[in-house]
Amino acid sequence: MSSLLPTVAQQDPELADMIELEMGRQFRGLEMIASENLTSRAVLECLGSALTNKYAEGEPGSRYYGGTMYVDKVENLAKKRALAAFGLDPEEWGVNVQPYSGSPANFAVYTALLEPHSRIMGLDLPSGGHLTHGFYTAKKKISATSIYFESFPYKVKENGLIDYDSLESIALTYRPKMIIAGASAYARDFDYERFRHICDEVDGLLFMDMAHTAGLIAGGVLKSPFPFADVVTTTTHKSLRGPRAGMIFYRKKDRQGKPTDFESRINQAVFPGIQGGPHEHQIAAIATQMREVCGPEWKAYAQQVQTNARALGAALMAKGHEFVSGGTDNHLLLWNVRVHGLTGSKMEKLLDAVSISVNKNTIPGDKSAITPGGIRVGTPALTSRGMKEADMATVAEFLDRAVTLAKEVQKDAGSAKLSDFVEALATNAAVAALRYDVEEFAIQFTMPSFDASRIKYKDGLPEEH
Ligand code: PLP
Repeated sequence: MSSLLPTVAQQDPELADMIELEMGRQFRGLEMIASENLTSRAVLECLGSALTNKYAEGEPGSRYYGGTMYVDKVENLAKKRALAAFGLDPEEWGVNVQPYSGSPANFAVYTALLEPHSRIMGLDLPSGGHLTHGFYTAKKKISATSIYFESFPYKVKENGLIDYDSLESIALTYRPKMIIAGASAYARDFDYERFRHICDEVDGLLFMDMAHTAGLIAGGVLKSPFPFADVVTTTTHKSLRGPRAGMIFYRKKDRQGKPTDFESRINQAVFPGIQGGPHEHQIAAIATQMREVCGPEWKAYAQQVQTNARALGAALMAKGHEFVSGGTDNHLLLWNVRVHGLTGSKMEKLLDAVSISVNKNTIPGDKSAITPGGIRVGTPALTSRGMKEADMATVAEFLDRAVTLAKEVQKDAGSAKLSDFVEALATNAAVAALRYDVEEFAIQFTMPSFDASRIKYKDGLPEEH
């Protein structure tokens, strides 16, 4: 029967071509955006399953729609496996797996546990924090978090490490109701004991957003925040390698063993507070990914992500490159390109032109967030393609060549403008040569979610469209 049903390629060739192009880009390039990963075929199958057809507002067992007997099972399975993935006792911790992504998960936490305009403290965005941790500028409250809650950010020191002393001294005066740990661009582990101590001093809640590092925490490579935090959120698509989605873990009993009311508050904040019907196809994908995370091979993956990040950092430092905080404990490196007279924006453009994806990032000492002096590079996706330390040495060669090229292109461009730099890139033969080498290297590694032989080839390399 299914063979009679039109595929995307048959029904919508224009769109199918775009999808194929993206698959080709992922396959022949090096994906080094620290927040991205390459998920499994099982996850993709769940996302493309009939579960997407189903409405299921409410919680398993008490829904506002009929016909939910199977999605109830799916959602309960996802919850059970999510708790197991982080070694949590279901008597002590609960989890909501309905957030559409990380940002709504975080907003649901604030909505559930705080009054509007309550005070919060999160890591400042230019210091590596996430938008949802309360970022605002002198001119504008950027995220809804800073519109609806009062935020006083804490920062990193010149050496790139969180300034816990300053956090403590501000907290003792500001008296936040909640302190947020976790970051989007921080290469070191967190001092949860210190965060907990400061929260206890001001009677505040400790909220850990482990979106970036959840996969490494589950794999036992980084410390667990659960003994210290009151509530923990994560995305499921970064180091956890699942679908794009979010989860909220909450204490059913507080650290003294007294029951909390977090479960009903969190569940109500997610639905009907800020979301409608849960995406059960996404939740099924979380379930199958959490099975993988609970399985025997996850520890090795998580360890390799960290080993690769350290190997990459060491290989680049040996060539004279510099990283914020001098290296990494986790899956990412914050690379200072300002010392080469470059901006993060130019490096990002150059690397795009040679099929390496990264993102520009502020580093300590930047005068403006618009022209940041760094880039953020990560190893979760490369590790999902099976790369090891020796491969990181090759990747380091490519990145080192890219810096030399960026300096040359900047000189050729004849101005400091990014648009002139991009124009000069397009005609540089050495850029084209580096791209060829990167792609030739990348296509040796398979993709976890699709058969790369589907991608069209030309001259031994995936076809240029
Ligand atoms: N929290 C952290 C620490 C993040 O880095 C991100 C995304 O990069 C998010 C939350 C938000 O996740 P999403 O983009 O899924 O909304």
